[in-house]
This record gives sequence, structure tokens and C-alpha cells, in this order.
Amino acid sequence: MAEDEVQLAQTALAGGDTIFGKILRKEIPAKFVYEDDQCVAFRDVNPQAPTHILVIPRKPIPQLSKAEDEDEQLLGHLLTTARKVAAQEGLDKTGFRLVINDGRNGAQTVYHLHIHIIGGRQLGWPPG
Ligand code: AMP
Repeated sequence: MAEDEVQLAQTALAGGDTIFGKILRKEIPAKFVYEDDQCVAFRDVNPQAPTHILVIPRKPIPQLSKAEDEDEQLLGHLLTTARKVAAQEGLDKTGFRLVINDGRNGAQTVYHLHIHIIGGRQLGWPPG
């Protein structure tokens, strides 16, 4: 992850509407690759790999640690959607990575829960 993302995460504010809320309401453009009644998926504007897609719930859960037990079905749906979108992108043949950044130490910059789907190249481990 780029240093400026980590820097941004130091001051990113939890709560309230976010840029992803605007994307959901189609107030600003995004390259959507999937949509249903519970979630959408669109391409990351600053891709970290040849394929970099974000899956987000329509419900504005700010971050994973703020999800509730009643969100269990939705969280499962997000993971299932990530699997399907990865396959749609051909990543199931080579492998890929799902990432959920949570809070400041997790380098979260947008406080609307999202799963990163990252693939299309060999990824390193451990992450930075
Ligand atoms: P995180 O650091 O986990 O909060 O990830 C936020 C991600 O949102 C970053 O990878 C950004 O590049 C991405 N992002 C920010 N604004 C937009 C946007 N308008 N359209 C698509 N992706 C965005």
C-alpha cells in the first residue's frame, strides 16, 4: 500500500456520508462491474494491481468492527459476491486476495465497509 494511503488513514473520519455513498446514489461516476439489491462492486480509482475492485454494501456500515450480529447474512453475501466477481474477472484461475482494512492501523481511508478484490499479478506476503 502506498505511503500516502497510510497517511490519509491517520486523519480519515469515521461516520457520516462518504464518497462511496455518493457512488451508490450515482451522484459521482464509477466503473460498476456488479449490482444487486444488497451490494455493488466497482473498480478502484487507484488500482494496486491489474484487477482491483471494491465490493460495498448498500447499507452504510462504516467498518467491519462496527457491523452487528444481525449483519451476518449481508456479510456473507458480500463474500459470496466477491467470489463471483473474482470469477467474472477470471481471477479464479490464478488466485487473488480479498482485503478489508479496518480503522487507522488497518489504513482504512473510506468509512463505508468495503472488500478489496486484488489480483492479476503475483502478490507478496506479508502485507505492509
Ligand atoms: P481503504 O484504504 O481500505 O479505505 O480503501 C479505500 C479505497 O477506495 C482506496 O483503494 C481508494 O483508491 C478507493 N477510492 C477512493 N475514492 C474512490 C472513487 N471515487 N472511486 C473508486 N475508488 C475510490
